[in-house]
Amino acid sequence: MITCSILDDIDNLYRPENHYTIVLYPGVEKYETLNNVLKSLAMELRKLKEEGFKDNQNVEWKVELYFSSDWKFLAMCLGLNAANSRYFCPWCEVSKEQQGDFSYEWTISKTMDQIREDYTFYKGHIRPAIFDMIPLQHWVPDELHIMLRITDVLWRLVLDELRSRNTWGERARNVIIEEMKRIDVKFHFWLEIGSTNWQYTSLMGQDKLVVLQHFDLSKLFPYSRAVQIRSLWDKFYLLHKAMKDSKTDATQFSNDARAWLHQFLDSNYFYQASDITPYMHVLVYHIPEMMRIHHNFGLAAFSCSAVEKKNHQQVSHFFKRTTKDGGTGKGRKSAIIDILEYENRLLYFKEHDEIDSMQLPKRLRVK
Ligand SMILES: [Zn+2]
Repeated sequence: MITCSILDDIDNLYRPENHYTIVLYPGVEKYETLNNVLKSLAMELRKLKEEGFKDNQNVEWKVELYFSSDWKFLAMCLGLNAANSRYFCPWCEVSKEQQGDFSYEWTISKTMDQIREDYTFYKGHIRPAIFDMIPLQHWVPDELHIMLRITDVLWRLVLDELRSRNTWGERARNVIIEEMKRIDVKFHFWLEIGSTNWQYTSLMGQDKLVVLQHFDLSKLFPYSRAVQIRSLWDKFYLLHKAMKDSKTDATQFSNDARAWLHQFLDSNYFYQASDITPYMHVLVYHIPEMMRIHHNFGLAAFSCSAVEKKNHQQVSHFFKRTTKDGGTGKGRKSAIIDILEYENRLLYFKEHDEIDSMQLPKRLRVK
């Protein structure tokens, strides 16, 4: 799903209904498909950027374009290879091996002009960028996915450490389940048939924040180690909070984020430089710079949170029938038309006076 919204309407950006669905398709995310599907959109965006926009009262508007999404989609639209590749960063030329080396100062060094001229100039770029009319400084990292994915890593490292301490087993799993109950987070473990790897509930954003703040690690680790991990989690929680706060001082944030990464690597050798993920690199090196560039909006304005909510609403309302039976081609297609027609009706009524004399379409029901 691709949505657009008006960044200047900053007070309403957190509302899913202020993000308008412009592209929706049920297939897998794949460059070739996207490039095809998005061709006409890209042409319109190019025109919009060059010529601006004239509204129905003949007022001319200059349009600045911005882009935000999760990593996979962003990398794909940029023509960049996958996040686990050697050259993974959309904004700078860091390599995997250089991630734990603090002697480098990574800033936004790539430019869209260069990518447009010759994308092979930068290592890791394997295809032309789809949205090459948006300057790279306007491709803004999303706070939600930074929080989700880094929290995933912190949690996985806890489980890995239990394994390496030989304290992973039935008892540890019960302790975790009890502790999750205490902090009111629905969580369970299960074994898939034929596998010996324990799977566990993938938590939603709000639950992840609760775990990050309140999970009592001393129930799993020796006290001194629990204090270390707790400190790392607390500091990450505060970094995420600061990232969303438009009043945060970028220099202070940069120092705090660096100190956090130092602390991450200084965890009694439990965490290695190879545990640093692309999102951590972005948090430490590019978020402070993005804060400075976009200080008039604040990074929270670029959050995908409202779009994720919108997606959840669409899935629970329109796809309910079709996802139950696995979603046959026909069912999925009609659900997509339903969604787009629903949104078109909303837009129509927004622009027409009949809105006063008619009842609004029923709101989406959120489960
Ligand atoms: Zn970078």
